[in-house]
Amino acid sequence: MTARHHGSTLKNSCRTCSLLGLAILWMVAFAAPTLWPQATGSPKFHVDSNRLQGTLEKLSEFGRNPEGGVTRTGFSETDMAAREYVIGLMKQAALEVRVDPAGNIFGLRAGSEKLPKLLFGSHIDSVLHGGNFDGDVGSMGAIEVMRALNDGSVKTRHPLEVVIWTNEEGNHFGVGTLGSGMAAGTLGPEILDRKDGQGLTLADWLRRYGQDPSHLTDARIPRGALAAFLELHIEQGAHLDESKIPIGVVQGIVGIKRWQCVVTGFANHAGTTPMNRRKDALAAASRELLVVREVVRAETGHQVGTVGYLRAEPGAVNVIPGRAEFPVELRDLEASKIDRMWERMKVRFTQIDKEENVETRCTALDKSDPAHADPALQAAVRDAAKSLGLATMDLPSEAGQDSQEIAKIAPMAMIFVPSRDGISHSPKEFTSWQDVANGTEVLYRAVLLLDDRLNRK
Ligand SMILES: [Zn+2]
Repeated sequence: MTARHHGSTLKNSCRTCSLLGLAILWMVAFAAPTLWPQATGSPKFHVDSNRLQGTLEKLSEFGRNPEGGVTRTGFSETDMAAREYVIGLMKQAALEVRVDPAGNIFGLRAGSEKLPKLLFGSHIDSVLHGGNFDGDVGSMGAIEVMRALNDGSVKTRHPLEVVIWTNEEGNHFGVGTLGSGMAAGTLGPEILDRKDGQGLTLADWLRRYGQDPSHLTDARIPRGALAAFLELHIEQGAHLDESKIPIGVVQGIVGIKRWQCVVTGFANHAGTTPMNRRKDALAAASRELLVVREVVRAETGHQVGTVGYLRAEPGAVNVIPGRAEFPVELRDLEASKIDRMWERMKVRFTQIDKEENVETRCTALDKSDPAHADPALQAAVRDAAKSLGLATMDLPSEAGQDSQEIAKIAPMAMIFVPSRDGISHSPKEFTSWQDVANGTEVLYRAVLLLDDRLNRK
């Protein structure tokens, strides 16, 4: 774009300049891309970007939605078909394929020494009206790494294994990171009888996937069985895209704590109750939800806090609300910061209660602990990116990931690539093919660095 504009401006001024302009245009358009890499010694990619793009495009046909993304929820016909495609790719890459009782798909490539496995991969299920990159990049990227290793006849000390975790998004059965949770032992047979909208249980679906649910606990991966787990994934946020940094080194997956708050006031006549005698639960709750935002914003860092809704009762135009209810959700990489913010909020809630003459009671709901990435693995990712001349940014994953489950049983790290405008869980989700290739090459190099560095006597 810049070169073309340059050329036409010069053309208007004189003929010689016009030729000069054309020469510059030619150099920028043709000469530079071919000569430059040699001149600067640009590192060679081992992964094949076109082949990778081909597999991602093929995968995007399974469950394509009208908006161009996919609706491929875990435990569905489309997911099943996509899994067959992935298994075919693994076999083509000469991997030894097995599916565990939770439906997780593994593809093994032997190592030269008797060592724990280096595992890497992601998920291929999507949310309803999802996109073509969440999970898919890390899944197809992992298989591409294996193909590239085969192309180069690379031998590794550790056995390498690709994994495609089952039902990460959890749209079906309402349980996210289902396959990895079962591998980590945080989920088990207690959810097998859970029914979906069609009246099918999780056990029914596992049977459809060719598994025997009575052996579900065999999906557990014992501690020590994995040397490491690496996951390549799109960021799903905008930190990398905004900073124009191609690789994110994930520090960990944020913890989440949720509370349900009920404000009790007194429902009374909206006309006959003077302003100073009201116990307006909705007015108090409104002030409280703004406190959530203020307290979270007052801290430096990536923490976030959300009030997802506010309900008031009785909900009539001429009645002062006597009861209001809202949830509070806080996320951060440090559990102590979440707790500190919550303590501050509670102090402010008590103050508002006094001023508004109401009572606020909050009860803790579910929580998930932060999962920290392993420093040695993060260093390998950073070094891999550096060897390619790619800038990195350390950042947390603000979305839930399979990696947070596997962190409970093995050292874990994640590689993030930019999401355009931070959009994900949408057909508009987009990561450029260059960024996909960059992330996959970083995965390739990180795997080899770890193969070299880990389990040395
Ligand atoms: Zn994902």
